[in-house]
This record gives sequence, structure tokens and C-alpha cells, in this order.
Amino acid sequence: MQRYDLIIIGTGAGGGTLARKLAPTGKKILILERGDYIPREKENWDTEEVFLKARYKAKENWTDKDGKLFHPGIHYCVGGNTKVYGAALLRMREQDFGEVKHHGGISPAWDIKYNDLAPYYLEAEKLYSVHGLRGSDPTEPPETNPYSLAPLEHEPRIQELFDDIKKLGLKPFPLPIGVKGGKEKGESKLVLDRFDGFPDPTESKADAHVVGIKEALKYENVTLETNSYVSRLITNGSGKEIKSVEVIRNGETMSYSANTVVVSAGAINSAALLLRSSNEKHPNGLANSSDVVGRNYMAHNNSAMVALSVKPNPTKFGKTFAINDYYFGAEDFGFPMGHIQMLGKSDAMMFRDDAPSFAPGLTLEYMAKHALDFWMTSEDLPLPENRVTLDKNGNIVLSYSENNLEGHKRLQKKLRWILEHSGCKTHLLPNNLYLGKKIPIAGTAHQCGTIRFGNDPKTSALNTNCRAHEVENLYVVDGSFFPSSSAVNPALTIMANALRVGDHLISEVL
Ligand SMILES: Cc1cc2nc3c(=O)[nH]c(=O)nc-3n(C[C@H](O)[C@H](O)[C@H](O)COP(=O)(O)OP(=O)(O)OC[C@H]3O[C@@H](n4cnc5c(N)ncnc54)[C@H](O)[C@@H]3O)c2cc1C
Repeated sequence: MQRYDLIIIGTGAGGGTLARKLAPTGKKILILERGDYIPREKENWDTEEVFLKARYKAKENWTDKDGKLFHPGIHYCVGGNTKVYGAALLRMREQDFGEVKHHGGISPAWDIKYNDLAPYYLEAEKLYSVHGLRGSDPTEPPETNPYSLAPLEHEPRIQELFDDIKKLGLKPFPLPIGVKGGKEKGESKLVLDRFDGFPDPTESKADAHVVGIKEALKYENVTLETNSYVSRLITNGSGKEIKSVEVIRNGETMSYSANTVVVSAGAINSAALLLRSSNEKHPNGLANSSDVVGRNYMAHNNSAMVALSVKPNPTKFGKTFAINDYYFGAEDFGFPMGHIQMLGKSDAMMFRDDAPSFAPGLTLEYMAKHALDFWMTSEDLPLPENRVTLDKNGNIVLSYSENNLEGHKRLQKKLRWILEHSGCKTHLLPNNLYLGKKIPIAGTAHQCGTIRFGNDPKTSALNTNCRAHEVENLYVVDGSFFPSSSAVNPALTIMANALRVGDHLISEVL
């Protein structure tokens, strides 16, 4: 059996970022990824292929709590879900690390505070080439350093909307976006277009493959094995250490071992892996005497909306501003509502199924020409009954009931109000196809919370360094560790935390 200093399972926001951080240590690192590289091909930007035919989505179905099969919006590939993400890279608010009262209940405090993560947010923003403007977001957490890259320019129709919203007394701000490069001498201009939900064959989207894995593989001490599905983690006799990692590659089972094993398979698959790895010493699943592994699954209350503006919107890349004025509430609602951001430009194909009932008489082409695209995120709460379990064949069962919805409904109303008062709306309709929201449970894009961290081993599976309380050489660095979900997109927090855990591994473990 081949032995390594460290094995990382998964190449997404957590695993890819950690690999990049640890590569320069010279330690022998093996990265195991169940998927393959997404080919750079013309279908990358083809809406029909990507959205309707689900070309890059995992080819597997899961079961919901009622035993119904669904196709999850999940991607198994080098870079994980970041390969198709929108690269909106926002920090959680300082208050999100404390207890927050919501209309639907309490969002619990984290056992680390914003200041513990702040230096790593800065490191992650630099690594992922985040373009932004400090001081412009009315609820942003404290940071004295500017973004190293200026905000992306609004295209004319988006600038007009931005100005109109400002006139309403709100504080729209440039959306922090991770985009590499820019126009260097001798290079042609980069025009961003198909972005949210699409892989980027130009590799200018700063994803965990391009920024993390590709850079890590420049070091000889780092090896990546693709098409390598980790089926089980095997402990030693005392159950306190992972002895080996069982992998299935092309139908063959093999084992690897390492001094330290970092699981980063995404919140749902990481929990499933720990549950699948139960043994005599861990009958309830690995590192799970607290019974929290798989529980408290969160994925945000998200919706994608399209406003049909009277004026045409010829924008190619509309994802350049956001609104946080209602993040913590408003005069008429004393609880958090959440975050509004622009989405990448939709096209006729994306709302083909929804259009007839919402906008009778309008052609898809008219709609495509006039659409302004919005994304709204509100916090869902960690409920123990929202959980990942396994069926008798070891397949994933995801039980999820939406909760804390009132804030999200209010946020939708606020957006309607904004659009009505900025003179641009004739219709507002849901863009259900985006992110598979047609079946809410399939919207797993913002999955988190299933292996929560904390100081108390009775209520958490990981300590605050993201090491399992019960298994000394096991770490988890994907979205699983979140005790609450906040209302900003999760990737930057996952990346920053992976960098934080990376520093801990460098100074204390490797
Ligand atoms: C369409 C879309 C748009 C999004 N837009 C944004 C955005 O704009 N901003 C933002 O912050 N977030 C966004 N997200 C969410 C973001 O992509 C995720 O939060 C982030 O990728 C999660 O990182 P992770 O490390 O937890 O897991 P992932 O990125 O999902 O990585 C997990 C990896 O583990 C691999 N894996 C799983 N199981 C195994 C196994 N058993 N063995 C080996 N490998 C395994 C997977 O193949 C995958 O590569 C978006 C997501 C989607 C789907």
C-alpha cells in the first residue's frame, strides 16, 4: 500500500484550496477525486447541453425522505461544484458568527469569530482574484485592506439599473467576483458571458481547479488521482486513527494510507462517507458518537428571478452588483431577510418551461432580450431532522424541509418593490431551471452543515481546527463544518477556512 504524508479527498472549494496551500510544504500529498476533468469543449457554453441535458451533472439519483428519486444539482469533477459556480465570493457578516434571531428561529453562534477567519478571507480573496470595492457593501464585516483588484465594470444597462436603485435610497454595491487575468499586453479583451452554472473553457473564472489543483500539481510532491471514488475510511483497532482509505477506480478496489486524511467531498458526500465508514468502534458512523454527522443539513432559501424590463437588456455579463440593505431586516420586518445579487444573463432556453404561464403572449426571444436576472439568498436554519442518511444499499437519502421562509418571501417582495420603483419591470417570473430549483430538494448548490464543528464533542463532530473529536488524524474542510449558513454564498468561507486549517496543519501536524 502506498503511503503519503497527507491524503485530500475531493478537489472543490475546500480540497482544491487546501491542496494549493499545502503543496509548497514539500510533503507527499495524494489528492483523490471521484470525477474527471471537465473537457474544454464548445458544449461548455451551450445552455441546452448544460441546463436541459445536465451534461456535467453527476449521473446519479438520490432519494428524498418520502422515498422519491431526484437528480441532485451536483458535479463530480476536478474543481467540484466551483467548476460551474458563479464565483460570487462574499465574506459572512461579522454578526453571522454570533447567534442571530430569525423569524423562524435561532441561527446558532460559531465557536470561532469573524476575526479568526478575517486574515484567511483576505488570503482567499487574493488567491481567487476577487474584484471588489471595500466600504461599498452596507453590511460588510471590518477589513482595513482593500481588494487587490478593482470591481468589474457594469455594462451600460446594468449601470443604469444600479444608478436607478441608488436613487431609491438603497446602497447597491459591486459584487465581489473571482475572475483571473485581465487584459495584458498583447492579449485580446476578455468578454465574460456564460458564467453562472457553466464551466469556463477560457479558465478565467477563478475556480478550485484552476486556482487550486492546477497550481498544486506544479509541485512534484503532489499527486492527483481522478476517477477515484473513496468508498470507506478504515480505522485502526482502537478506532482513533484512519489506517487506510479505500478507493474504487475503474471497478477495482485499492487502498492508500497517510499520516493525515482530509475529507473534502462536499457536505452531503462527506457525511455519507463517514456514515458508510461505520465499524465496531464507530457503530453510528465514523466520528459520530454525538449523532450530528449527516444532520443539520442546510442549503439556503434561494430563488432565481427574471424581471422583464421595458427597455432591452443587451448585457453579456450582468453579474456585477448586489444589494444587502435588507440583510438584517427592514423597518417593516425586524428579522433578517437576506441578500440579492445579479445573475449571469439568462437566455430564452433557460425559462422555456416557465414562460407561457407567467408571461402569456410574449415570445421567448422578446423575453431573452428584456430579461434582468436576479438571485436571492436567505438563511435556512440547522434542523437535526434535515439530514443525510444512507439506504440499505449505501445510497444517499436526503431529507430536507424548507424552513425560515418568511424572510425570503419578504425579500422577494422587496425586490418587486425595487423593480417597480426603478421603472424597469413589466413581469417578474421565477427562473426555475437555474440550479435545478424546479425540484427544491435538488438545489444542493449551497449544501453545508452536516459535520458541524465546535468546542463541545456532544454537539459537534469536529473541533474548531476541523479535526474529528474522535479520530486523531481525520480532518474535514468542505462546507460540512458550518454551524449556520448565513445568507451569503458559501464558497469564500469554505476557501478561507481551508486556508486556516492549512496553517494549523503546517504548524502543528505535518
Ligand atoms: C451552479 C452553481 C453556482 C454556484 N455559485 C456560487 C457562487 O457564485 N458563489 C459561491 O460562494 N458559491 C457558489 N456555489 C456553491 C459552491 O460551488 C460550493 O459552495 C462549493 O463548491 C462547495 O465546496 P466543497 O469543497 O464543500 O464541495 P465541492 O466543491 O462540491 O467539492 C467536492 C468534491 O469532492 C468530490 N467527491 C465527492 N465524493 C467523493 C468521494 N466519495 N470520493 C472522492 N471524491 C469525492 C466531488 O467530485 C467534488 O470534486 C454554486 C454552486 C453551483 C452548483
